[in-house]
Amino acid sequence: MKDTRVSVRALSAALDRGETTSLALTKKYLNEIKRRDAHIGAFLTVTEAAALAAARAADQRRKAGKVHPLCGIPMALKDNICTKGIATTCASRILENFIPPYDATVWRRLQEAGCVLLGKTNMDEFAMGSSTTRGAFGAARNPQNTALVAGGSSGGSAAAVAAGEAAFALGSDTGGSVRQPAAFCGVVGLKPTYGRVSRYGLTAFASSLEQVGILALTVEDAGMILSVIAGKDGRDATCWAEQGEDFTPQEGIHGLRVGLLLQGDMDEEIRQNLLHAAQVLKSMGAEVADIAIPGEQDALAAYYVLSAAEASSNLARYDGVRYGRRAENALTPEDVYVLSREEGLGAEVKRRLMLGACALSAGYHEGLYNRAQNVRRQVRQAWLDAFRRVDVVLSPVSPVMPWEISQGMEPVTEYQQDRFTVSQNLTGLPAMSVPFGRAKNSLTLAVQLTAAPFMEKTLCRMGRALEEGDEA
Ligand code: GLN
Repeated sequence: MKDTRVSVRALSAALDRGETTSLALTKKYLNEIKRRDAHIGAFLTVTEAAALAAARAADQRRKAGKVHPLCGIPMALKDNICTKGIATTCASRILENFIPPYDATVWRRLQEAGCVLLGKTNMDEFAMGSSTTRGAFGAARNPQNTALVAGGSSGGSAAAVAAGEAAFALGSDTGGSVRQPAAFCGVVGLKPTYGRVSRYGLTAFASSLEQVGILALTVEDAGMILSVIAGKDGRDATCWAEQGEDFTPQEGIHGLRVGLLLQGDMDEEIRQNLLHAAQVLKSMGAEVADIAIPGEQDALAAYYVLSAAEASSNLARYDGVRYGRRAENALTPEDVYVLSREEGLGAEVKRRLMLGACALSAGYHEGLYNRAQNVRRQVRQAWLDAFRRVDVVLSPVSPVMPWEISQGMEPVTEYQQDRFTVSQNLTGLPAMSVPFGRAKNSLTLAVQLTAAPFMEKTLCRMGRALEEGDEA
């Protein structure tokens, strides 16, 4: 195996046949990280020694008998997923030295399967952003062109997979943070249904919106990884899906109904590519029709009010007392709170906390928070209505192509680029970003698939068809 951009399925088969070992693979990925990551910035922490030890243990397990297909596969985790004994910073100064005393459920399940952790990936601070330029420890860059953003907030995870620095990675998706960087970097990004995957040990940003998601090279890989991390967890009451479902994509999409959602502004190249994807699905046997989702245009505003409100409550715990950084020259308890947060949190996080506190305060609560909740209910109903008529909605991921890191983007302009991904979080619906097509400048393009609650199987089936249609 020459390069490291190889599907998990193929790596696993090579391990089964004894053509390679987890130790050899792990060394290869660690070498790729050494060779490339100074230019990409996908990783915040590389856990080399632990990875080599885990790889040796995986090889022992494989020798001893039948193992899970993920046994010995080298992978990465976004730095907001708690890893016992390994720094988990959320790309924030306030958690710079935070070492969790416990593992997130998703990571515990991957360890049980025998996965090898290469390290923790870069992100926007506390997952607030769409570019991975808003973390405290530098930007992640797009492996397709390092002058461009990798997308965000799981930009490090997407870049690591795209660059062949990890076989797959987990990220988190509160408003598009798995799907959009996947689209920018040219990999598959899957956000499961709210309630499919445990959030225990995922550092909370907006608890009612987020899920742990998967970044992988193929749809099949994403499905395989989902079966491992999904399912009930006594430590997260909002996670209630049964464990052990198989998401291996079925063949063929004949008779599946696809709704093409072309509402809102987007780059012409992205629109044309979406039309092309619709045509390809039609030629493969799907029934394709245009669809409209009423009220969809209000989703973005509702998302920014609700996510900020939840963030202001969730991030109140970083007070310099219990977690992370404490200001050194604080003389009074009030100083501890104020200075620790002042020094520890970045500009974007502060902006959101102010907005969120405002949205929840007396006098604004009705007009902002309650109104946003109403919009959320309406948007959810509109999407559920749509799924009485179609099995999958086909829509853009990002309305724009990755932008230049050096040019940056104004915060509110950056918020606006999330307009096609936040509805799936407001509604809890499962969605997937699949690479499809190429832009004139040779960057990969992508399309988004959304399905009814808990229909990830349909997403994988349709996603697999798009991969095939794209190769053809
Ligand atoms: N870009 C969105 C935001 O900034 C989504 C972030 C996310 O999904 N974590 O809030």
